[in-house]
Amino acid sequence: MADLHSQYLRIKPEIDQAIQEVLDSTAFIQGPQVKQFEEDLKKYVGSKTVITCANGTDALQIAMMALGCKPGDEVILPVHTYVATAEVIALLGLKPVFTEVDPKTFNLDVSQLEEKITPRTFAIVPVHLYGQSVDMEPLLALARKHSIHVIEDVAQALGAVYTFSDGRNMRAGTMGTIGCTSFFPSKNLGCYGDGGAMFTQDEKLGERIRMIANHGQQKKYHHDLIGVNSRLDTLQAAILRVKLRYLDDYETRRRAVADFYDRELSSVNFLTTPVRASNSTHVFHQYTIRTKGINRDQFKEYLQDRGIPSMIYYPVPLHLQKAYEQPHFPKGSFPITEELSRTVLSLPIHTEMTADQISYICNSIREYPNG
Ligand SMILES: *Cc1c(COP(=O)(O)O)cnc(C)c1O
Repeated sequence: MADLHSQYLRIKPEIDQAIQEVLDSTAFIQGPQVKQFEEDLKKYVGSKTVITCANGTDALQIAMMALGCKPGDEVILPVHTYVATAEVIALLGLKPVFTEVDPKTFNLDVSQLEEKITPRTFAIVPVHLYGQSVDMEPLLALARKHSIHVIEDVAQALGAVYTFSDGRNMRAGTMGTIGCTSFFPSKNLGCYGDGGAMFTQDEKLGERIRMIANHGQQKKYHHDLIGVNSRLDTLQAAILRVKLRYLDDYETRRRAVADFYDRELSSVNFLTTPVRASNSTHVFHQYTIRTKGINRDQFKEYLQDRGIPSMIYYPVPLHLQKAYEQPHFPKGSFPITEELSRTVLSLPIHTEMTADQISYICNSIREYPNG
């Protein structure tokens, strides 16, 4: 699914040097590379403020804390997503309000948002799933109308560009109140351990976020807010500084793989290839197909027998997870998401794939005997 080793080898001298510099300085916590990476990332995404933290899950939690969430507040999120989003909501004593997704883009169905809003609604969390932006223009208008916060989860779509109807372009993660991302090794911009960051255009809010990520202090041993301990290690920041310079190249490589798959697989009648949204670029964190009229799990096994890995993101929707089930959302409450959990399959896509590998995968798919 990923080839982090080959990716490392291609930039080994630069990475090794960056790591060695940190080792020589021994500034393992809050070394200068952390600030430098925040500056670089600020320029890349076009955000006034970037605050790094320990991982993407913490980023979501810190964002909600910084905005002053109160127990019982409601947070609207897609039901087809990674668990981290729901987890921090529940952990903070907030109520996750699950919302159906669009079967084409797999992202929040923005037309179903307004009916979810109540006087207790604190925030909406659009998750930019698999690599493309949620339809943010109507979502932002709705949030403004009801004075609710927008916390973007851009862990899978760092770099994706959303185009507004007036032609303005903005990177996913910089449009809402706060954007949250992850540098988990397999993300499009991944470090060699855990890492995360938050984006905001509000510099005051940025200060609050920075304090909360660092024990609620601005001055050492003076704690004005209740915070957490969530920092990006200097080693990871140094690695990310190098890798950020390659992010555009990585995106181009991923898109080339996706284009290849599209060409080879669009005529295969037992699957549908990913739909590209008209108002967002796709950075292809995942290349996710949907099976049609075949058993997805048998097809996955067939690929496995031919040495082709594939993954199901996500096999169990949030409302059917033991920890997150709610009596008013029984099985059948989210038919599209439940259908997706039975039919989605993500094929290998990464920066080091060769034409031979992709051809082999496509040929194997076309030769599927039950297709
Ligand atoms: C990876 C991911 C996260 C969490 O990131 P971590 O760094 O693993 O904590 C959150 N949301 C989504 C959509 C993700 O894909």
